[in-house]
Amino acid sequence: MQDGARIEVRDGRLLVPDRPILPFIEGDGIGPDIWRASRRVMDAAVAARYGGRRSIAWLEVLAGEKAFHATGEWLPAATLQALKTYRVGIKGPLTTPVGGGIRSLNVALRRELDLYACVRPVRYFPGVVSPVAHPERVDVVIFRENTEDIYAGIEWASGTAEARALREFLRGTLGVDVREDSALGIKPMSPFGSKRLVRKAIQYALDHHRRGVTLVHKGNIMKYTEGAFRDWGYEVAREFGERVVRESELEPGASREGKVVVRDLIADNTFQQLLLRPADFDVIATPNLNGDYLSDAVAAQVGGIGLAPGGNISDEVAVFEATHGTAPKYAGLDRVNPSSLLLSGVMMLRHIGWVEAADDVESALARTIRDGVVTYDLARGRPDAREVSTSGFADAIIERLGGE
Ligand code: NAP
Repeated sequence: MQDGARIEVRDGRLLVPDRPILPFIEGDGIGPDIWRASRRVMDAAVAARYGGRRSIAWLEVLAGEKAFHATGEWLPAATLQALKTYRVGIKGPLTTPVGGGIRSLNVALRRELDLYACVRPVRYFPGVVSPVAHPERVDVVIFRENTEDIYAGIEWASGTAEARALREFLRGTLGVDVREDSALGIKPMSPFGSKRLVRKAIQYALDHHRRGVTLVHKGNIMKYTEGAFRDWGYEVAREFGERVVRESELEPGASREGKVVVRDLIADNTFQQLLLRPADFDVIATPNLNGDYLSDAVAAQVGGIGLAPGGNISDEVAVFEATHGTAPKYAGLDRVNPSSLLLSGVMMLRHIGWVEAADDVESALARTIRDGVVTYDLARGRPDAREVSTSGFADAIIERLGGE
């Protein structure tokens, strides 16, 4: 019998008990190493901050190789049901099965649970070696649409009957000529899908006192998909009333105080502006493929994706996850950096409103890195560093919980 209680939702708000049941997927490859370390740090932070008044009832659910060995399925229905029932969960990286009809377990999970917003906060931790002069100016949160766009995988290979049939339809019915034997893909983008993503990004900006939301698109070329994303985004901005203003409608010299300013920027320009003037960016809302590229590019600016956390969120369910893969060559060696999963845990704690514990973990992690006590990846290029194992890194973070 599982102890703890279920998180409920009322009027769109989470009602979190003092001992919520939170499902976790340990993950494949390095998953068990980074999960053990992350769980230990989260439990220690919650215990230290709330003195036993609050704790987490972790519930293991299976996916990936562990699930396949135990049940013959890569993503058992019971796992999806547990995430739906308990509403908030966390996962390590999963092996992508080769063949067998599943493109990616992560994509399947997002689709099954309709986790439509991929949220990736990116900030700099002093002491991390970065390729840019001022990585500390990066502090952005990317909201990437997760369910639509050319990324949704609706495509047919060159020379197939389906591709030929679609080409015939394009030529015969729509009068569009496409080169013979082309592979073809479809880029669906709906007002529903785009608007709910932008709405979530703006609401996040309001809740977290962020200055602005940039709609990143390629609407100069793809007018009816990406251009429409921008237009629908501005329509959503109007739903929020006076608290949200469009940059182009701001009077010269008008105060931005207490308001979220919405603007749009073309994707290629965004890549260069983010490198040149990262401080101009705050929250970003963008379609699926742009968001995929942007998330990793910005993460690289602050020292790589080994540190980048992520969350996949719907209106009902949120699953937080490490953004890197299973790094199989390091599996079981107690060697890799658990920060991506741990910071995903920080996002999860904030999501359930345990903000103090989340802040404690984040600042203890920052101090550990600043002190040069780091895993092998962060020790590269840092002669002052003392290299520690995954579990040693967790110990060092726990030692610093609650410190200055
Ligand atoms: P990967 O597992 O992310 O590993 C690539 C390299 O990134 C590693 O060799 C290592 O670099 C570095 N790295 C990754 N995680 C690290 C950590 N926690 N600490 C320190 N360094 C870390 O990418 P991959 O090798 O392309 O993919 C392996 C498997 O993971 C595939 O089955 C793939 O499909 C899956 N995958 C899963 C997810 C997910 O579940 N979210 C995401 C991506 C890929 P060095 O060797 O330089 O140290």
